[in-house]
Amino acid sequence: MSPFALAPSLYGHIEVVCGPMFSGKTEELIRRVKRAQIARQRVQIFKPMIDNRYHDENVVSHSAQSIEAQPIECSSDILEHLYDSTRVVAIDEVQFFNEDIIPIVKKLVRRGIRVILAGLDQDYRGVPFGPIPHLMAVADRVDKVQAICTVCGAPATKTFRKNVEDDAQVLVGETDLYEARCGNHFEYHEEEELISYRKAAPEPTETSI
Ligand code: ADP
Ligand code: MG
Repeated sequence: MSPFALAPSLYGHIEVVCGPMFSGKTEELIRRVKRAQIARQRVQIFKPMIDNRYHDENVVSHSAQSIEAQPIECSSDILEHLYDSTRVVAIDEVQFFNEDIIPIVKKLVRRGIRVILAGLDQDYRGVPFGPIPHLMAVADRVDKVQAICTVCGAPATKTFRKNVEDDAQVLVGETDLYEARCGNHFEYHEEEELISYRKAAPEPTETSI
């Protein structure tokens, strides 16, 4: 069964929708969920409790599209809330979960569930965000979506933080704090990108490939 099909399959699969802020990740997640619902598949939507920018219980896009979701504190809550009949699990803002979400997503797939994940691929420094790089690697399908650069109108793949005084990786905000930017209008933090790469990627050995 193709991973792009709506028909239920014995095996589940993972779809990742990633990109910068304002790139339409949430819109795309909502679109896929609505199509699954049209196909009469039971869908459960989760989001991290940390993301309460618009609404505590809904996933809401910047274009005001909205769908009901269950806010959860940690990824293991997904298994606790899961119904036996659920065929599709959609999770927004996946970058806010820690690496514990990886085995949970794999468990869902083994149960035959289609897992739709949306999240930021990079933080405001351009550093790969949380569990997203791993999930992109193990996904069956990855879509990188682009926003529009607020400076020049080119396709934007980066999230620019306006307030550089606060360097915490997670600082929940909106247009007050963030802008979509293209590579020409993004402020690179090359040293931090390199440090994070070295931490994440051990030296390859002969047996590691
Ligand atoms: P994401 O989940 O990736 O942050 P959303 O799905 O919530 O994105 O919102 C996408 C919508 O945001 C677009 O359809 C558009 O209406 C609006 N938008 C606001 N600013 C921008 C921008 N700079 N580039 C593209 N879309 C933008
Ligand atoms: Mg979003």
